[in-house]
Amino acid sequence: MEDADVIVVGAGPAGLAATVHLQAAGLRVLLLEGSDEVGGRVRTDVVDGFLLDRGFQVLLPAYPELRRLLDPQSLDLRFFSRGVVAQGSDDRWDLDFSARDRETLLSLARFAAKRPLDALAVGALTLRDTTVAPNRIRAAVPTETGRELARWRISRPTIEEVFRPFLAGVFLDPELTTNSKLLHLLWRCFVRGGAAVPADGMRMLPRALAGLVTDDALRLSTTVASVDRGAVRTADSAVPLQARAVVVATDGAAASTLVPGMRAPEWSGVTTWYFAVDEPPLRRPTLLLDGASGSLMNTAVMSEVAPTYAPGGRALVEASVPGDTGAVSAIRSRLGELYRTSTSGWELVAEYRIPHALPRMKSNHVFTSPAKVGTQLYVCGDHRDTSSIQGALVSGRRVAAAVARDLAR
Ligand SMILES: Cc1cc2nc3c(=O)[nH]c(=O)nc-3n(C[C@H](O)[C@H](O)[C@H](O)COP(=O)(O)OP(=O)(O)OC[C@H]3O[C@@H](n4cnc5c(N)ncnc54)[C@H](O)[C@@H]3O)c2cc1C
Repeated sequence: MEDADVIVVGAGPAGLAATVHLQAAGLRVLLLEGSDEVGGRVRTDVVDGFLLDRGFQVLLPAYPELRRLLDPQSLDLRFFSRGVVAQGSDDRWDLDFSARDRETLLSLARFAAKRPLDALAVGALTLRDTTVAPNRIRAAVPTETGRELARWRISRPTIEEVFRPFLAGVFLDPELTTNSKLLHLLWRCFVRGGAAVPADGMRMLPRALAGLVTDDALRLSTTVASVDRGAVRTADSAVPLQARAVVVATDGAAASTLVPGMRAPEWSGVTTWYFAVDEPPLRRPTLLLDGASGSLMNTAVMSEVAPTYAPGGRALVEASVPGDTGAVSAIRSRLGELYRTSTSGWELVAEYRIPHALPRMKSNHVFTSPAKVGTQLYVCGDHRDTSSIQGALVSGRRVAAAVARDLAR
């Protein structure tokens, strides 16, 4: 007798979504997670009353797959302003479309006056991406993101000062070689629904998904050592668990050690620093981009986005750069220039260096990799779709459909 119909390995967004859909199909599921909490790369630490997401990350409430599973508002979302402040070499662009004060409106007008063709080009890109069906975006012939922005006639200075630091933070790909379809799909979601964090940290997303998993399916602190034809060996038991199907829902690197013949993805990394400060250096929930120094940093006062991210009377600043080699001393001094204030009193709360943050998605990336990879063996995760929470959730649903179909035969 099997221990379950399906064993899912890994309780990140993909494994959680797969479990929810498998249970909805009436299957008995065991969800094995190696660490002490669900969430995978979407986790939040609490340090001295500060909420620290493990690397700066945001939720796009317009992700269609998120909405399929739950009401994003149930996560008590706190929104970033619609737009960014971008520091260029000569100019500082305040492109905050949600601000209504005179200064910001004048700044938007100044951008349109100085770079009218860019204003038109970005408007055209936005109109197209928000109105066309996502299937048409997925069906297009892709190129690299940098080339695609140029194809939309966005000028080199605006790419360098605004798009490169913005997208380097999203794709963790400073060269902008990421598949252009992802640019359009993400731009669509950004513009349609904005960006947010749950008031209690990004961890609330996987926790909400885990809340949809019924019974006692979830086993934490259970690392899977090997998988073979429906038999799953855990690191701490000599007796394998048995199932009719096994879904490997780990990150791509772990999947390559569990699934014969599976190649590990190439990764993009990121480093995020969190600073505790007495006074917020910017009193707005806005992403501030460094398009001038070459560090391609994004920074935000997280406690302006969600006051719950800092204990009373303090503020929390995040600063992130692509890659995992940045030095905090250089970042601290650049933050002083960007926020136009002294950072000598800023207290470093934590540093997260994450070499394996996102699987790279080059222009030849396959958007939909097969769910079934062997006898009774299936794989899901962001590395099988797109490198995002949306991609992980989609792949979880796809794998569940494939398993349910095969087991019904
Ligand atoms: C710093 C950072 C910022 C990001 N920002 C964003 C963002 O703003 N928006 C966005 O959409 N996406 C973002 N992402 C990407 C997003 O977090 C991932 O795409 C998503 O978490 C992938 O989910 P997954 O379930 O495929 O894999 P994971 O989240 O990696 O989950 C895999 C799970 O498998 C478990 N596991 C691994 N090996 C084993 C084993 N042998 N046995 C048992 N369990 C195992 C792991 O512990 C983990 O819980 C970011 C990622 C990082 C790191």
